[in-house]
Amino acid sequence: MEDVGHFIGGKRVPGKSGRAQDIMQPMDGTVRGRVALATKAELREAVENAKAAQPIWAATNPQRRVRVLAKFLELVHREYDELAELLAREHGKTIADAKGDIQRGLEVVEVCLGAPHMLKGEFTDGAGPGIDTYSMRQPLGVVAGITPFNFPAMIPLWKIAPALASGNAFILKPSERDPGVPMRIAELFIEAGLPAGVLNVVNGDKEVVDAILDDPDIKAVGFVGSSPIAQYIYSRAAANGKRAQCFGGAKNHMIIMPDADMDQTVDALIGAGYGSAGERCMAISVAVPVGEETANRLVEKLIPRVESLKVGPSTDSTADYGPLVTAQALERVKGYVDLGVEEGAKLVVDGRGFKMQGYENGYYLGGCLFDHVTPDMRIYKEEIFGPVLSVVRAKNYEEALRLPNEHEYGNGVAIFTRDGDAARDFASKVEVGMVGINVPIPVPIAYYTFGGWKASGFGDLNQHGPDAFRFYTKTKTVTSRWPSGVKEGAEFVIPTMN
Ligand code: NAD
Repeated sequence: MEDVGHFIGGKRVPGKSGRAQDIMQPMDGTVRGRVALATKAELREAVENAKAAQPIWAATNPQRRVRVLAKFLELVHREYDELAELLAREHGKTIADAKGDIQRGLEVVEVCLGAPHMLKGEFTDGAGPGIDTYSMRQPLGVVAGITPFNFPAMIPLWKIAPALASGNAFILKPSERDPGVPMRIAELFIEAGLPAGVLNVVNGDKEVVDAILDDPDIKAVGFVGSSPIAQYIYSRAAANGKRAQCFGGAKNHMIIMPDADMDQTVDALIGAGYGSAGERCMAISVAVPVGEETANRLVEKLIPRVESLKVGPSTDSTADYGPLVTAQALERVKGYVDLGVEEGAKLVVDGRGFKMQGYENGYYLGGCLFDHVTPDMRIYKEEIFGPVLSVVRAKNYEEALRLPNEHEYGNGVAIFTRDGDAARDFASKVEVGMVGINVPIPVPIAYYTFGGWKASGFGDLNQHGPDAFRFYTKTKTVTSRWPSGVKEGAEFVIPTMN
């Protein structure tokens, strides 16, 4: 049993609130430890530490700052296996998938090694007579990130790396369900040479989140989680004058055109729909075959593949996916499957009865597949976040395109086709932030930006890539004149370029 407190001032500190929550091991339903839930006063302690450390960090030249990131990369590689196992045990995903979670985070750290270039300002020589104009990017000061359970390495790193590279101090409030890896990340940063106080981790729930949102010294908040909370965080942070970028839930469609290679399509759908037990914001949860014949061929090939999915404990290297994150998540997802049946969708593969031998208390659900789902059903409108795929049959391309376009969420989408013209039209017209063409999970690589549209994203800048440096810095523009010769006296008319 491990007691997880907070990470403040460069070291682990115990929680003082007297409030704590169990950290579960989803694969067998045992309790691994307890995580402290911080109070406003504990958050304040982290902010004071961050405030004191930030000016020195900001004054460290950017090349030296990114050397700490480079060393951190080296340290993570040293203990990749241990980190992946810890992640898998707290989250439930398989160890192989946990490695991917860490890797996609490290890729953003790698891109942030280029921060000295990204942070360069602009310069115009001779913008007017004897006048030069230049801009510089300066850090915001103390910034915070609030992250979800489903990528406990990747999403914290997407925020920490660009924020630190830009000269900010950072306060992370990770998910209370899997705080182990975020705490270890903070320790590794200190070992890599980050000054104490520049990165703090405060564990907790709504109480500490609200304290972050109201703290006058926190200048920006980056959030990832479900849409209702994303919208709440965005509104409260903005009302308090903070920058906020808040990413929410998803319902990602995959359009399957009649000319798509059906074997490739089914392979892609199986991985994207059921990998990580469907607990990915970029998981495909809706398959949209175009035309009856395509739909029949798709469902016929999908059924045996869903039936033969290998569900297993997180430590089983042959498992396709592991348990869901909590008993409540399992109940919620099963509830959606019951609801789909009540709503009249056809449950062609029912995974509700699945039991994992030897792990009877784990939170397992077999793969579920619905056919004949319609847009008015709640199982279509709402995010299920489990190993449940819905097939919505579309008569033609136009009807298929309308589905993601009219859906409340707009995170990811994919089209499978051999027709370049259809793919091009789709990429241009679809109202979704990230598009895959014969790619089921189009998470952009680290030097592009990641962000959904509509109810999947609140705020104007995306995560990672160039947007991250814009989000974590403010621009200062300097107009500079060094007069020479005789003074001409005061000017009362606004200077223009006429
Ligand atoms: P969640 O919204 O329950 O929690 C996210 C964070 O918010 C956690 O740190 C949690 O402690 C905090 N929180 C929860 N309830 C709160 C409240 N009432 N007030 C203040 N803070 C609160 O999300 P989750 O279950 O951890 O993660 C799954 C969700 O995240 C899914 O909806 C998924 O689609 C989404 N997600 C989105 C992206 C993206 O990039 N768009 C990426 C990953 C996950």
